[in-house]
Formats: sequence, C-alpha cells, structure tokens
Amino acid sequence: MTTIHRGRIFHVAGSPTVHEAAQHLAYFDDGGLAVDDAGTIVWCGHWADRPIELADAEVVTYAGCFLMPGFVDTHMHFPQVNCGDSYGGGQLLEWLTQCIFPSEARFADPNYARQAAAEWCDRMITAGTTTGLIFGSQFPTAQDALFEAARVRGLRIIAGRTIMTVGPESAGPLLTSERDAIEFTRNEIEKWHPKTDAERSSALQQVAIVPRFSLSVTTTTLAGLGELYDEYRAKGVYFTSHLNENNRPGTGEIDSVKRLYEVDAYLDTYDGRFLPGSKHGGSSLLGRRSVMAHGVHCQDRELARMAETGTSIAHCPTSQLFLGSGTMPWTRTVDWGVTVAIGSDFSAGDEWFIPQVLNAAFKVHISEPGDAGLSLHPAALLFLGTLAGARALDLEDRIGNFDVGKEADFVVVDPSRWDQYGNTLRWGARPTDPELERDALLFTTIMAMREPTLTHTFVRGRRLVTADRGA
Ligand SMILES: [Zn+2]
Repeated sequence: MTTIHRGRIFHVAGSPTVHEAAQHLAYFDDGGLAVDDAGTIVWCGHWADRPIELADAEVVTYAGCFLMPGFVDTHMHFPQVNCGDSYGGGQLLEWLTQCIFPSEARFADPNYARQAAAEWCDRMITAGTTTGLIFGSQFPTAQDALFEAARVRGLRIIAGRTIMTVGPESAGPLLTSERDAIEFTRNEIEKWHPKTDAERSSALQQVAIVPRFSLSVTTTTLAGLGELYDEYRAKGVYFTSHLNENNRPGTGEIDSVKRLYEVDAYLDTYDGRFLPGSKHGGSSLLGRRSVMAHGVHCQDRELARMAETGTSIAHCPTSQLFLGSGTMPWTRTVDWGVTVAIGSDFSAGDEWFIPQVLNAAFKVHISEPGDAGLSLHPAALLFLGTLAGARALDLEDRIGNFDVGKEADFVVVDPSRWDQYGNTLRWGARPTDPELERDALLFTTIMAMREPTLTHTFVRGRRLVTADRGA
C-alpha cells in the first residue's frame, strides 16, 4: 500500500549544479510525499494537487513539521565515535597521538567494537544522516560489527577499514604489514560489497578502499591498492582518503607528503603518480566513486584533475575550524567544476548533525577574505547536505531529493521541539516577497534546527529506529 507523508516539504528537485540550486528549490507549504511498498517515491507535490490514483493511499500527517531529504555525510570516522571534543594538548599532532590513535586501538576488543558500532549507527539515525561514507576501523571484527549494525537497522553506509602501513609509535596497534593491508581490504570487499549489478542497484551497504592518507601508507601500499581497485572498480567499490587538509609550512601534512614522496602535488599520490617527480608508479584511485576529504589547499591542477575524473570533495567546515586547517575556498573550488558535498568528519568535526555543519559552512564562507566571501543561498546549503552528497557518492539516481522513482530517504523535523527555532518561525519577521519568504523559512530551518527537532528518520520508505532508544 502507498503511504502519503503529509507536511511542509523542502527539497532541491532535478539535477542542478550548486549555482542552480535556488531555481530548483521546491517548497510545498501543505505537501505530500507518496511512497510505495518498495520505498520508492511515486509522487511529491502540493496536497491539493494529489493525483486521483492516490485516493486510497494511507495518509500520515506531521502537523507543523518539515519533511526534507535525509542528510548525506560524505566524511566520518567510525572508530572516533567516542572522541568528540577531545583535547590532547591543543594541536593536531597531540590530538592524534594522545586521543585518537589510542581510542581507535580500543576497537581491537570485539565487545567494545560491537557496542561502538551500535552507538555509531544509532547516532546516525538520531541525526537524520541516512547515508554515510565512513572511514572504518583497522580491525576486521569491528568492521563486521559496523556493517552488521547498519544492516540490521536498514541504514545506508559506505565504509572501509582505515588502511595504515606506517605511522608514529602511538599508531602502532593500528598498523598492518603491506600484505595484510591488501588482504584485509580484499576480504572486506568480498564479504560486504554487493557481488552482482542487480544486488548493487538495491544495496544499502557498500565498501570503500580507504587509506587513512598518503602519510600512513607507502608507495608499495599505494601500488597494491591501485591493483586492487583495478580489480573491483567495475563492481562499484568506492575510494576515499584525506587531501590537502593542513598546510603548516615544513612539518604540515602537505609539505610532508611532497617531501616524502618527492611529488609536485599531493593528489598525484592517489592518482598513480606517487614516484619521485610525480612519475607514474601504479593505477589511479580517482574516479566517479572517489571522495577526497577537505581539499582546503588545492593547486589549480589538482582541482582540474578532480573535475576531469569526477572525483568529489567532502567539505568539512566544522573539522577545519576545530583543527585550524583553514577554509576551503568555495568559489574557486566550485568554479573548477568539482562536486563539493558536506562531511562532518566526526570526531575532528565535533558535530554529528549535518544542518549544524551547513551552519558552519555558511559562516566560514561569508567570512572568506575580500572578494572570496559569499553568502551561500539557503537552497545551496540544502543541496550541499543532500543532493550533492548523493552525486559525490554516485547515488544520484537513487537518493538526494524527492524526484519520482527515487528511494524515499527523508527526515521529519518538528520546530516546536527547539524554542529558538520554533519561536523564530512563529514570531520572527520575514520578507514579504513570497520567494524570499520561502528562502528565509529554509534558512532559519537549516541554521536553527538542532538534533532534538528531528522526530523521524526514513530510509527507502522505512522508519529507522535506534536499538536502545526505540522509536
Ligand atoms: Zn577525516
């Protein structure tokens, strides 16, 4: 039986660029989202315009609530589930060695990992994050626990064990041999990635190849991963890693990569050109299913290469604020034609809730110096948290908005559950121009809503519930 979910509906319809998001913004003050038994969207529009064929559909009304597409988080770290707002001494290196690596090492304990996997998936549901691209645990049993927890709940995830073959002493428990790095990754793909095209077209859980970053692997690892990716790329396996996050001169991430690999550009290490002088040494890991986290300090030729290969950027403003990494130059990055989606980078980003990450994106870009500063349109913010993520993950044909034929991933937001938000909507003055009034409504919704306002999370038409908290 088809169900019509009735409420105030926002989504970015069609398949626009971020510049076109405002023209594609759909808003139905009294709207309906009709979902069939298979979880497919069969209609979305004004309640008054509902088609006659839906006369017998079951109707669920969410009075005063907003419905919008589920949030897509394109960068997060599973083994940092319990690391939010950790302090190791004030800088990145201390944070990693004092807090992050020891926390990730705890996942060697299968019981701890199982609990953490349940907590992780429950928190995604609570935050309305219906799809996540996840850096996983180094330990295969912990990854099994994550995939299993996501499967049981019906959550959409793409994850892969975080590969590390070299690192500082504090990362010792997380490192594997070169051989195990490839073997464990292959085993994970074989175990959890859908095997056939038919399975893949309906799969909710998929696998990614995930070297932590170039400094945690070697040319041998990168060559091995390139071969592995050649083998599995056609089966839709993903690739993700970090890129151009920290530009502290000398000892920072970017200078270290260039010095150790003797390459001209950081991206070359993921592009098969990891030998001195950026010479070819193996297969490229870039492509339509590749996502680079951060991309704060990219060279023009790196942006051009990402655009050319269809590689996307997971933009993580809360993390960049927390770690002092700088601000991804919005206009320059987007103008090169790179797909930019949003990432929480939890726990370097200290916020799960994607609208709060979008809130940070608005603030950092309006504060970019000089001519680079811009006020992102509310529709661009919504696009960034939903449809852009679907595009970055090559899932735009299935999720990201309420176009007919897509899978119904959506959230329900009740403004009355957060005073600041509810009262602004109720009492605050908004522009009288109808289009501007709609934009203002969306802006306040994205900027002011908090996690407690989120009452329902649906994936493919099915309401997800957390294991311990019930509905
Ligand atoms: Zn990260």
